[in-house]
Amino acid sequence: MTDKTGMVYLIGAGPGDPGLLTIKAKECIESADVVVYDYLASPFLLEYAKKEAQIIYVGKKGGDHTLTQDKINLLLVDKAKQGLSVARLKGGDPFVFGRGGEEAQLLLEHGVRYEVIPGVTSAIAAPAYAGIPVTHRDHTSFVSFITGHENPDKKDSSMQWDVFAKSNATLVFLMGVKNLENIVKNLVANGKAADTPVALVRWGTTSRQQTVTGTLATIVAAVKEANLKSPAIIVVGHVVSLRKELAWFDKKPLFGKRIVITRARAQASGLVSQLTALGAHCIEIPTIKIIPAEDITPLKAAIGRLTDYNWLVFTSVNGVKFFFDTLFAMGKDVRALGHLKFACIGPVTKERLGDYGIISDILPKTYRAESVVEAFSTFDIKGKRVLLPRAKKARTILPEALTQMGAVVDEVIAYETILSDAGKETLITLLEDKEIDAVTFTSSSTVSNFMSLLESRDARVLLKDVTIASIGPITSDTTRTFGLEPGLEADPYTIPGLVDGLLAFYENRQEA
Ligand code: SAH
Repeated sequence: MTDKTGMVYLIGAGPGDPGLLTIKAKECIESADVVVYDYLASPFLLEYAKKEAQIIYVGKKGGDHTLTQDKINLLLVDKAKQGLSVARLKGGDPFVFGRGGEEAQLLLEHGVRYEVIPGVTSAIAAPAYAGIPVTHRDHTSFVSFITGHENPDKKDSSMQWDVFAKSNATLVFLMGVKNLENIVKNLVANGKAADTPVALVRWGTTSRQQTVTGTLATIVAAVKEANLKSPAIIVVGHVVSLRKELAWFDKKPLFGKRIVITRARAQASGLVSQLTALGAHCIEIPTIKIIPAEDITPLKAAIGRLTDYNWLVFTSVNGVKFFFDTLFAMGKDVRALGHLKFACIGPVTKERLGDYGIISDILPKTYRAESVVEAFSTFDIKGKRVLLPRAKKARTILPEALTQMGAVVDEVIAYETILSDAGKETLITLLEDKEIDAVTFTSSSTVSNFMSLLESRDARVLLKDVTIASIGPITSDTTRTFGLEPGLEADPYTIPGLVDGLLAFYENRQEA
């Protein structure tokens, strides 16, 4: 530890969509020793933090303050005085109703160095994602950001309702949902036309975004009816009428669909990012954890005698990963593989192998014995030695097919998949509360693990209105053994196939 004072970065974490973080903010989170965040900052951003970084949640949701502002300030000072680099993440922009100014003043008082990294404020971004530009030459020439939080009974209020009401500015209120009725009353009482368009945008820029529109005359009832709560932006002004024409985000094909992802976290990102890009709200409940084989001696021994083999065959990306991890850990590199031919089952495995600079010689059309035989038939594999690094429990199609073709197959266990139950409580609560639209299963073990997370509960009851999205026939058969009929099955049996299947499923539903 140094005796030099550390540094505090007051960082705007953006409004929710993790893609709206600035590059500078990301770099800062990556190098910080301590990351302090509150509930408006997207937890996705924490994934950028170093493994050993301290992550501190300081809450702040309506009145339920996990740490008071004073305590947060002292925490920042304290950590910085220990010589640490502190990333203080704040929703939106730190200096737009973010109390970043107060934190900076306090740091200054304590002689702690700080920098400010502005963020994309929800005041602009939430309307933008609802198709509302806060300025537009045909409608308004200025915009005001106003706190909606001020106590309406405050005697010496600084709220200039007459000015707001008379101007043609777009009025953007933050923290105003609870006060909506007062805001509307004050604007109308000061002469703002009752037919002025108004929109509320909740959880803007996220897949949970919800928008309610109306006029000053109708909005209070509309918001009650929709049961829209905080956090939301209130936009008052003629620009709101542009939403009819310009809405884009909530028009995405999977917008608002809450989809559970059951894959291992390390493998989920492709599926999550594709579904998120289509507007879905992905809830990651990994049912599987992938760990190295308990005993890696056989794998190491096989790598030690690679010259004995003619073929290296992979049935999964994990096989590729753990094989190379072990190869490198043994001080070897890809030059040890120059004499080998390669086969991969599936395009993603082939791609992963490509990451190591190796082009697979074979890619069967499907993972079926006939396809495997067909794919290998252009090579003479009779008497050839094949190394197959695989999972502890794996299907036997491939080694059987190869053996029948006359190859000598050595199967070695490279990794194990085990049950992950970290998301159990969340999963059960969400299912009981009917907060899930679909569950994706990408292998039979995701199905059986998912079922064991439900313990003795009846899956058919819990998942009654939930769409089962299966990656292929084998996985579908497994869901059926639990009494669940898939609503859709991927074709081809790949992640993009699964994403297309979900798209088609919801498109058909809309038409129906
Ligand atoms: N510094 C933040 C604002 C903090 S004040 C910023 O620049 O965005 C908290 C208020 O911000 C909430 O009450 C709500 O009005 C608004 N807000 C923050 N994130 C939001 C989001 N994703 N969607 C809608 N409103 C949001």
